[in-house]
This record gives sequence, C-alpha cells and structure tokens, in this order.
Amino acid sequence: MMLRSVRLRLTLWYVVLLAVILAAFCAGVYMLMREQLYHNLDDSIESRSNILLGVILFDDQRPTLTGTVFSQDPDANESFVRVFDESGRVTFENRAFEGEAPVDSLALEHALAGKSNTRTVDVDDTPLRLRTFPVEREGEIRGVLEVGQPEDDVRETLRALLLILAVAYPVTLAGASLGGLFLASKALSPIDSLTQLARRLSAEDLSQRLNMKLPDDEVGRLARTFDEMLERLDEAFRRQRRFTADASHELRTPLTAIKGQVDVALERDRDAETYREVLRSVNADADRMIRLVGSLLTLARADAGQVTIHREDVDIGRVVTDALDHIQPEADRLGVSLAVRPGNGVRIMADPDLILQLTLNLLDNGVKYTGGRGGSLEVSWQNSGRFAELVVSDTGPGISAEHLPRIFDRFYRIDTARSRADGGAGLGLSISRWIAEVHGGSIHAESTPGEGTKFIVRLPTQ
Ligand code: ADP
Repeated sequence: MMLRSVRLRLTLWYVVLLAVILAAFCAGVYMLMREQLYHNLDDSIESRSNILLGVILFDDQRPTLTGTVFSQDPDANESFVRVFDESGRVTFENRAFEGEAPVDSLALEHALAGKSNTRTVDVDDTPLRLRTFPVEREGEIRGVLEVGQPEDDVRETLRALLLILAVAYPVTLAGASLGGLFLASKALSPIDSLTQLARRLSAEDLSQRLNMKLPDDEVGRLARTFDEMLERLDEAFRRQRRFTADASHELRTPLTAIKGQVDVALERDRDAETYREVLRSVNADADRMIRLVGSLLTLARADAGQVTIHREDVDIGRVVTDALDHIQPEADRLGVSLAVRPGNGVRIMADPDLILQLTLNLLDNGVKYTGGRGGSLEVSWQNSGRFAELVVSDTGPGISAEHLPRIFDRFYRIDTARSRADGGAGLGLSISRWIAEVHGGSIHAESTPGEGTKFIVRLPTQ
C-alpha cells in the first residue's frame, strides 16, 4: 500500500543504494586507514631494527647488545628489543616493558631460516607489534633480533575512526533519506496537480489549464504537453459544437422556406398553376437540402476517417473536360466565358470522383461569383516537379486579404446574403481542401479585389 507512492519507492531505492555505497565507502576508509597505520608502524620498527642490526656485537659468534646503545639513544627504550643466539637462547632483552613477551618458537625458526616475520603479543597489558629478523654475520645467520613497538596508538586511532563512522553512517543516511523524500516530493507534486485537474475535467469544460511555471525538465514538459493537449481537445470540441450549430442553422433555412410557402398555399384554395409553382419552389429547396446534407455527410465521414480513397491513374485533362461540360450551361446562363489552357500528359494517382468534385467546386464558385459581370474563367494545368498543378482563375470580384485566409473554413461565407441566395452554405471550399489534403496535396487562393481570384491546387503525381 505504502509503496504505491512513487516518491516513497524512489526514496527507498535511493536510500538502499546509498546505504550500500556508504557502507562500502566506510569499510574502504577503515581498511585503508588500518593498512596505512600498520604500515607506518612496521616501517618504524624496521628502521629501528636496521639501526640495531648495525650495532649488534658478537661474543664468540653469539649476537648480543649492550646497554650503552640504549643510553645513547633514549628513544630506543620505547621499543621492546630482544636478541637470541642460534640455539634460541635469549642473549639480550632491554626490559622496556614489564612482563614477559612470550617466545614464539615458530617465529624463531622462520627467522633462523632467513625469513623475518611479524606478530602481535600482549606484554604488560600493552599490545605489542613484534617483528623478528635474522641476524647475519659474514653471510651466515647467527641469531635473531626481535623488535616490538606498542600498537595501542594505532588501535586507539582505529577505534576513534570506527566511532566516527558509526555515528556518521546513520546520520548521513537519515539526512539523505529526508533530503531524498523532500526532493522526490518536490519533483512529483506537479503530477498530483495534474491528476487532480484530469479528474475535474469533462468534455463540457476543457477550459482549465495547469499553467504551472515549471522548469523545462521531464515533469515540466509533461505538464506543458498536457496543457497543449487540452488546448487541442478544447479547440476540437469547440469546432465540433460550432459545426453542429452551423449545420442545424443551415438546414433550418430551407425548411423554414418550405414551411412558409406551404402554409401560404394552404391558406385558401389556389389554382393548379399556383400549386405547381409552390411545388417547384419546394422542390428547389429540397434540392438545396440534399446538396447540403450531402456535403455535411462528406465532411462528417472525412472527420471520422471513414472515406476510402480509390486511387487510380487519372488524366487531369479528362477530369477538367468533364467538369467543364457540367458547368457550361450555368456559365452560359450567367454570361461567363470559359477558357482552357491544357497541359500535356498531366496524370496523377488519385480518386477520380473526388478530383472531379474538387474541380467542380472551383469552377462552380468561379462561375457563380463572376457571373453577371461579363467575366471569364480560365482553367490550366501542368506538371510541377513531383506535383500536378491545377489553376482556376476568374475575373470576378476578388477576395479581400482579411477574408482570404478564412474562405477554406467550414460555413465561412464572405457575403452571407448573396451566397445563400446562390445556394452555397460555405462548405464547398472546405471539402475541396480536404480532398486536396487527403491526396497529400494542398490548395490555396490568391486574389486581387476587383480583379479576380486564382485557386491553385497541387496534387502529387505518385
Ligand atoms: P459557398 O458554398 O458559399 O460558395 P465555398 O466554401 O465554396 O462556399 O466558398 C466560401 C466563400 O468564399 C464563398 O462564400 C465566397 O464568398 C468566397 N469565394 C469562393 N470562391 C470565390 C471566387 N472565385 N471569387 C470570389 N469569392 C469566392
């Protein structure tokens, strides 16, 4: 249960790791210190014994020392000194310590065999570091010299060190644990805020943000990413709501018109011609609704990613010819002249139905908005690198810079009254943009108000 908190788990791991490392460190320090202290002690015994080996006397080949050495060097009396002859008998002992230092026959044997050795004995309650050296004369071993120095200083120092380590170890560990817990809490507290916010959020209210001023580290980036994700979600939900509201509004307009005409017609008896007139009008409104619902369906399917694109080799020239045939009657009616500047062999891998729809949308707009001014519409296409470029330019009213970036938005119309009269709901260009993009292409518009508008569609050839 307790370990369900990351900060505790992190701290625990960290403390365990630290405990192991710290223990290894303490043991290392202790052992190194011990090694060094004994090394120094042995060095000091060795230099003393070197001096003594130089002043050893031989009495009939038996090595011995005299008290004069010690009177000349009072420091020498701080050491324990003992000399043996070849047979293991003591020939000299300086008696610097009360009590006997036991004789180790094995050590003697070793020394007589030429190997110096070291041991620790207790003399007079003093631990003594005792080293045994062979005494040579003219290349032959004639006896043994034993030099000892008390090692209680060394032991004292080691005990003090152990005490310091024993206190420092838990204190450091406790301090580090608290510090670790504090740091982990500090680092992870934004995650708690994130959890709380996520719990409060619902689709209806995505306006809340963490807005935490955090550094650019893992948690800071997580918090910022979370806010950015909320922003996108919020925007997506807003767009969806707007889309539903706009769509309902657009559908109500023709329905209201139908209802109005039928109501008026039913007020009293009318002749057959009037009924026919009303039915024609109702039929036109129904057509508008069918077109609108068709567009809405296309966009809804596009949003849901449900449209399957059937790509095939498409000759753009053919598509444009089909579209022109379609639009010609309307162009004639509105007095717009159509011109074509064909490109050669421009082919793309695309869904022919969708490309036709895109072309129709552009031509339809061009004719619709240029109409009544005696204007003209020109369509051209050509290869441009890995893309095919389709350009539809008209000599219509143009689009001012403030509207230009928005005409591809859903339901966006510049002159609402005029567009609606013409039957547009502001969905044509957003569908066209979707078609271009779903093929991996793009669409954009350039316009000079008063002179005309040019739509450029780029579609990948492969
Ligand atoms: P609509 O169905 O209203 O035509 P579109 O999405 O096709 O909707 O176009 C959006 C708006 O862009 C139109 O309402 C119109 O104001 C403007 N527009 C589109 N094409 C042209 C054009 N060729 N010339 C001038 N304005 C245009």
